[in-house]
Amino acid sequence: MRVERTQILIIGAGPSGAVAAGMLRQRGYDVMIVEKQTFPRFSIGESLLPQCMTFIEEAGMLQAVVQEGFQFKNGAAFARGNHYTEFDFREKFTSGWGTTYQVQRARFDHVLALEAQKQGADLRFEHEVLAVDFADERPRIQITSSDTQEYTVECDFVLDASGYGRVLARLLNLEYPSNFPVRGALFTHITDQIQLANPLFDRQKIRISVHPQHQDVWYWTIPFSNGRCSQGVVASADFLKCIEGNETQQLRTLVQQEPGLSHLLEHAVWDTPARSIIGYSANVKSLHGKGFALLGNAGEFLDPVFSSGVTIALKSAHLASQCLDRHLKGSTVDWESDYAMPLKRGVDTFRVFVEGWYSGQFQDVVFHPNPSPQIKSMISSILAGYAWDIKNPYVEQPQRRLTTLAQVSRQGTTH
Ligand code: FAD
Repeated sequence: MRVERTQILIIGAGPSGAVAAGMLRQRGYDVMIVEKQTFPRFSIGESLLPQCMTFIEEAGMLQAVVQEGFQFKNGAAFARGNHYTEFDFREKFTSGWGTTYQVQRARFDHVLALEAQKQGADLRFEHEVLAVDFADERPRIQITSSDTQEYTVECDFVLDASGYGRVLARLLNLEYPSNFPVRGALFTHITDQIQLANPLFDRQKIRISVHPQHQDVWYWTIPFSNGRCSQGVVASADFLKCIEGNETQQLRTLVQQEPGLSHLLEHAVWDTPARSIIGYSANVKSLHGKGFALLGNAGEFLDPVFSSGVTIALKSAHLASQCLDRHLKGSTVDWESDYAMPLKRGVDTFRVFVEGWYSGQFQDVVFHPNPSPQIKSMISSILAGYAWDIKNPYVEQPQRRLTTLAQVSRQGTTH
């Protein structure tokens, strides 16, 4: 079998793989990216957080993203019954980017991948990793492609950015169950015509709506810059099973059940069949091993409610590139303390807020009618993706702070 050589092999050209490739090319390393699909391809996860702009900029891809004309985003809006709250990310505790974009992922991911290629990464679409061998000094990865025979790549290090493909977790028996219950999502893109229902609707924010009877069922509405939006709903797998019809009918039935959302979408044109994804939360026993590290969704994925997926994926690319740079220069890298633990710090912040969302604790905070501006700015920081800023008390001690805040909110007093 043909054997090729590179310094760094990246599995998957999604956001974590492409951005890691950019960061490593800037440091002069040889990078090969093998991507199972051909781009552009559909992916879910369209609402970015301002924190991820830092990493796009660091990878030298900012201008290409800005030029795409994606929908500008400056915050998040939450609706539950008659309660409505907005968070403006520019009014946040942590310094840094306060705005970002709502993106069609097919285009966004393609732009990032092409930027990595322009920077010199050897990008191979329709090349799929089949098997891996980490027994020897250098990793050996077996790849198949549509146009060539199977071949082997020998490299110094592998970054697994295969997302839901979870290549190394599967092949190296690293899978570990998530402690979140099995939830599912139904989603599609529609021509929303929201301005006909509400001319004042703010397209610069993702809107999260809560089901009137079931607080753990929620909807996202992510407007794009072309008059269309991504519309989705999340619920437990058991709840979704009880809704009749195909995926589009199920989604439309659930939208009808939320009066505020149903009103907003009353003129929408449902022109694209809905899709579903069930049981997306996942974890691993370890984010690294001899000769490899896991990035983004190939490691842990929590939950979509705060749009944290791409931001965590890009943060992992940033941390792993730094570690890998030191490793390849001959320094000793402790991947647990230098990569996994710093990454988990922010993931664990999001985890507390996600758990609080489904328990209702964080919803009480969000819908508090009279929040303190200072506390709101700290919460806004986390919602903007600054979940690693330990100067923020809600990052430093997320569980204790959120529990206290929720108690105060439930008493109905000012925070
Ligand atoms: P991916 O984007 O999944 O990319 C992985 C790539 O690897 C794919 O292109 C795949 O084809 C390739 N691959 C897989 N297997 C192989 C193989 N064997 N060989 C070669 N290539 C392979 N995140 C947000 O930030 N905002 C949101 O609004 C948001 N909404 C979401 C809604 C839902 C319902 C869900 C489930 C997730 C959502 N997410 C959101 C999360 C987001 O989708 C992911 O976190 C993000 O795409 C992770 O990026 P990644 O680069 O790690 O992986």
